[in-house]
Amino acid sequence: MKGKCVNLDCPEFDKIVDIPDGEDFVCQNPECGHKLHELTDESGGLMEWIKEHKILLGIIVAVLVIGGIVTWFLLAKDAPLVTAPTDIIVE
Ligand SMILES: [Zn+2]
Repeated sequence: MKGKCVNLDCPEFDKIVDIPDGEDFVCQNPECGHKLHELTDESGGLMEWIKEHKILLGIIVAVLVIGGIVTWFLLAKDAPLVTAPTDIIVE
């Protein structure tokens, strides 16, 4: 498991370390021992961010979907009925 120390006072700060499974997932500097921030292998950044913020993302998506539906209903109610342009359909 890869991780990095997030203790600003630590000489190992932001240095990526590989901790074997079963060992304490903490900084290898004995004077620090801070819990490591886990890093994921695949392209880290975005996937990690999504994992950490999936609840927030879920709320945002839900709000967008609900907002979209409400807006659609409001617009559909106010807008005049759109008649299909029949002249396009040519035999
Ligand atoms: Zn450390």
